[in-house]
Amino acid sequence: MPEITPVKEPKILIAGAGIGGLTVAILLEKAGIEYQLFERDEQVCTQGSATGLGFNVMPLLEQLGLLEELKSISKIIDGTTIFKEDMEIIREIRLRNNKTLTGYDSLVTSRPQLHALLSSRVPQEKVHMNKKIVSLTQDSESVTITCADGSSYTGDILIGADGSYSSVRQALYNEMKKENILPNNTEDGDVSLVSHYMSILGTTNPMNPANFEGLQDDESHCDTVIGEERGLTWRYFTIPNNRICWRVDVQSSSMDPKLYENWLNADYNMFDVSQLPEEWKQHKLPIMGELKDLFENTPKESISKVVLEEKIFETWKHGRTVLIGDAAHRLLPNFGALNAILDAVVLVNCLYEMPSATDKHIAKAFDDYYLERFPTTKRELNSVQQMSTVLAGKTWLDTAARFVLLKLVPKYFKEKSLEYTLSYRPQALFLPRIETKGTAPLTPQRPSKKYAVYLKAQASTSTTAL
Ligand SMILES: Cc1cc2nc3c(=O)[nH]c(=O)nc-3n(C[C@H](O)[C@H](O)[C@H](O)COP(=O)(O)OP(=O)(O)OC[C@H]3O[C@@H](n4cnc5c(N)ncnc54)[C@H](O)[C@@H]3O)c2cc1C
Repeated sequence: MPEITPVKEPKILIAGAGIGGLTVAILLEKAGIEYQLFERDEQVCTQGSATGLGFNVMPLLEQLGLLEELKSISKIIDGTTIFKEDMEIIREIRLRNNKTLTGYDSLVTSRPQLHALLSSRVPQEKVHMNKKIVSLTQDSESVTITCADGSSYTGDILIGADGSYSSVRQALYNEMKKENILPNNTEDGDVSLVSHYMSILGTTNPMNPANFEGLQDDESHCDTVIGEERGLTWRYFTIPNNRICWRVDVQSSSMDPKLYENWLNADYNMFDVSQLPEEWKQHKLPIMGELKDLFENTPKESISKVVLEEKIFETWKHGRTVLIGDAAHRLLPNFGALNAILDAVVLVNCLYEMPSATDKHIAKAFDDYYLERFPTTKRELNSVQQMSTVLAGKTWLDTAARFVLLKLVPKYFKEKSLEYTLSYRPQALFLPRIETKGTAPLTPQRPSKKYAVYLKAQASTSTTAL
């Protein structure tokens, strides 16, 4: 594919080489826009469990040439089953129609594998490891980040893709507070983490398929067990190579504070499962075996824990700085990657279209990005919050809601999530479009004027050459 040269290139700094930051880098690389990526960790992180990627990012991944490789490291999610601890099925949700409607399956892989796939497509000389961003300054000309090692870098735009505990977001909000422009009475005023629940997670080594049911099936077994103990839920996804991505969720508001007080206030950190109550380890899995089988077959250093609060920040941009992914919104784990990828493509589309890197053009590009992504993400958060309360909640009201929603209104979740996501399958506007697949209507995307000019110029060059 020929290189694209924009009229005037902005220089972009990306904070965080996670899923969102790497996707931005791949897109900017394809768009021919200059960028540098800064990552806090010294080396690529091997922690993480399942990452689900739905049909609304598949056309983009196909466009980026990632889809076939992604399929080779993923299993298809055909549905999910929710069990009680005694293995009675509460509800089975099947997603078989999705392929007919959208042309794509939903896939699940492990986060480290998805991370490695994205990372393999970013030139390593543009990725700066061991660069923890600690502060930022910006004015009408540029934005500068300073890292913990004292180094600093200046660019036209800073993209904060540095995850849930985003330093960029905190620095930005501090700056806005000083200027008295951080909106009051919004989530933005409160950047402290109020724990909602905590996940302990990991991905096993290859397991013996003789000891677990369906490990070699083409489709992933995605099961959730709602424990009898208040606030305890465990779930897993089987992935290729007989491996299992697992997660134990603890809703801290339902737990004895003594149990979890030492686990709070942490990012995705290493976690020693020997701290867990013995009886938890004996909890059964619907595919046979117990939680302890998952714990024992997962490399210790790759088991991590994260404290999560589902939340969306109202302010995603100011001056030359913009937030994407978990830095802007924290949704349920397993599908955070999907939203970060959607943020990335919408933002880079807007940046590509920018005539130049002036304050005015940057503000317009950020506004366009926000207007497209904020309302969708907010709607999704509401639906995710209802879902998590219903699945994990232990009050009598939650139990009643679970009964009504899962048993009496069986299509509720399916329709709700489809309603929001089915038609939304954005692609990069500066690359050849992947033809629409499936029968479901698509949200139209405004074509790129700049790309049209580029294609015209290409066509006239090749005609002249003939
Ligand atoms: C170690 C780890 C394990 C995870 N495991 C899972 C999982 O099993 N399942 C799941 O669904 N989601 C997991 N997530 C979260 C998931 O990746 C995100 O929800 C989603 O992909 C959104 O991506 P993101 O790019 O916004 O954030 P992330 O993927 O979290 O990436 C943020 C990146 O920014 C880096 N960073 C943070 N602070 C700074 C700083 N000050 N300066 C520079 N870099 C910084 C982080 O090291 C990280 O690489 C995990 C995240 C991490 C970091």
